[in-house]
Amino acid sequence: KTVCVTGASGYIASCLVKHLLHRGYTVKASVRDPSDPRKTQHLLALEGAEERLKLFKADLLEEGSYDYAVEGCEGVFHTASPFYHDVTDPQAELLDPAVKGTLNVLNSCANTSSVKRVILTSSVAAVTYTGKPRTPDVVVDESWFTDPEYCKSLKLWYVVSKTIAEESAWTFAKEKGLDLVVINPAMVIGPLLQPTLNTSAAAVLSLIKGAHTFPNATFGWVNVKDVADAHIQAFEIPSASGRYCLVERVAHCSEVVKILSELYPSFHLPEKCADDKPYVPTYQVSKEKALSLGLEFTPLEVSLKETVESLREKGFVS
Ligand code: NDP
Repeated sequence: KTVCVTGASGYIASCLVKHLLHRGYTVKASVRDPSDPRKTQHLLALEGAEERLKLFKADLLEEGSYDYAVEGCEGVFHTASPFYHDVTDPQAELLDPAVKGTLNVLNSCANTSSVKRVILTSSVAAVTYTGKPRTPDVVVDESWFTDPEYCKSLKLWYVVSKTIAEESAWTFAKEKGLDLVVINPAMVIGPLLQPTLNTSAAAVLSLIKGAHTFPNATFGWVNVKDVADAHIQAFEIPSASGRYCLVERVAHCSEVVKILSELYPSFHLPEKCADDKPYVPTYQVSKEKALSLGLEFTPLEVSLKETVESLREKGFVS
């Protein structure tokens, strides 16, 4: 079977491409710049790549850019979307590529008769920011949908970009009768395949590399290999539908630091919180739908260890 992965050079997508090749798929992988070895070498080196990986040049903001990449594909995994927080022009840097880009990819899919299902990489960010309180007794599930207006007022532009992109994707899919399944992962950690640093691995790196304080923040965490598998299962299981939150555990940064200090007693980890306020509370995220895909979540401790080992291997930590 042939499938397409957009944004293939990225952190999650690289792992997805690896797992797809391992399962015997032929993968049409879109990258922005196929001539940049830092974006492609790690993909071309994957087992099965020589025979079954084809690279395509495509940009989210170029209309029709994905037509050729999705041609002949049964499944399309749309992962490409900018993920960083330090922006000067949120509309141009985050919102346009996320929203217009998603519609651009979906439009190519709707015009391609071979495409049977599209799997969109959204985020738990598009789920949890409803304005409703999140406390240890609250269970967030797929019925929650982030309120973009609330997030705009907080200037959470990445969250806004993911929410509007997912919302637009559902509207488009309904209009065109496209079979869409959405994956909503939390903070993704675990081994990196690409040589560059992505935003979620950078969050772990900042804790182990000289930070004096840890942020007063609580995140859901999930392993990249589980995220890749969830995408494939969501494509392969005919009855898969709707959204799938992927969260192994919700943990405050203080807990993450505690786990890291047990794993690596010699590291100089931050000892105090960045502010004096009470810790942002944890909450729960339902695993029910994710488990229905046959997933087994990697424990946070293992995911953190894999992240640190990988950051070391890539030379980000000595
Ligand atoms: P990366 O930054 O590693 O990957 C992002 C990918 O998007 C890159 O391949 C990048 O291409 C591509 N991209 C960005 N802008 C454009 C554009 N204008 N045209 C074409 N491609 C573009 O991030 P992740 O792997 O972490 O993220 C992948 C997806 O997963 C995103 O949709 C993100 O929102 C989502 N996600 C990530 C989470 C995480 O914790 N990592 C959590 C939840 C969701 P290039 O390499 O050329 O820059």
